Amino acid sequence: MSTERRKTGNARFTIGVDFGGTNVKLALVSFIGDSFKIEGFSSFQTKDYKKDELIEQLVIRIIKLKAESTYKGNRVRGVGIGVPGRVDFNQGLVFDLTNVPGWKNVHLRDELISKVKIPVLIDNDANLMALAESKFGAAKGHKDCLCVTMGTGIGGGIVLDGKIYRGMNFAAGEIGHMTINENGPLCVCGGKGCVERYVGNRYILESAIKRLRNGAKSILKNQLSGTYLNLTLEMLSKAARQKDPFAMLIWQEVGLHMGAVLANVVNLLNPEIIVIGGGVANAGNLILDPIRRIVRDRAFQVSCRNLKIVPSKFKEKAGIIGAASLVLANKEK
Ligand SMILES: [Zn+2]
Repeated sequence: MSTERRKTGNARFTIGVDFGGTNVKLALVSFIGDSFKIEGFSSFQTKDYKKDELIEQLVIRIIKLKAESTYKGNRVRGVGIGVPGRVDFNQGLVFDLTNVPGWKNVHLRDELISKVKIPVLIDNDANLMALAESKFGAAKGHKDCLCVTMGTGIGGGIVLDGKIYRGMNFAAGEIGHMTINENGPLCVCGGKGCVERYVGNRYILESAIKRLRNGAKSILKNQLSGTYLNLTLEMLSKAARQKDPFAMLIWQEVGLHMGAVLANVVNLLNPEIIVIGGGVANAGNLILDPIRRIVRDRAFQVSCRNLKIVPSKFKEKAGIIGAASLVLANKEK
């Protein structure tokens, strides 16, 4: 790492924290112009710590990264934190977290600032992924962008005119809970027939397994030799690339559902670019091609002119880059 160059340069240093349901990742990041570099990193497993212990871990590790930077002669301007849940951005208040028990109405920002003594900003993780892609990634150079993460849940972040759009109650961008079937199955959010209920990774697998059990023909049957629960999205992708009609149909359906929702969003926002990331999106063109086709078929033609639908550039790193860049983005206001 060329840390020497950074000593005298005009790099701006921040710390990014990607607080996920499985891992918490922290990075010291330096920014020069429109490029960045990860200068230090640490991580731990979320489930190993209860709420107060986890906050303590954050404090210890933030102070350590801060000291690392100061040692090299650089001042850290602040900490950005992305969390999997709804956050009052103005107050730094975490309302609750998906898949992390014990986090209800936590004033995380104030608690951290009193201990780490530098500015702290907290936002929803999907918003920060959108910020990362918009500032440095697949949507760089575009003013309006929509970023969708397809994994266990389907998340969305909206960047309008270069700024995150959060909505009145910081709840904007919940694309996963747009209804595609008003009488459909119950969703974790309490709604019915949300798109997440069809294209979240668990439901893709559930539906595929059910059909295999019911006698669908597929090369996957030999690979699984009866143990259908071992089916993974990677196996479905691989089989589809080998032109297995069953696996191809599954991805077509996922693309159809997601494409229909995105066509609605395109009609609503007329964005320049849609960035798609997350584990489900690792299927690449198996899912992107049907999404592009459906959006083109369903959304207004004028909204589709020059519209790009592209894969995420940063993949699992988007959260941490977005978190780190939040501190700088907030100063630009
Ligand atoms: Zn829902």
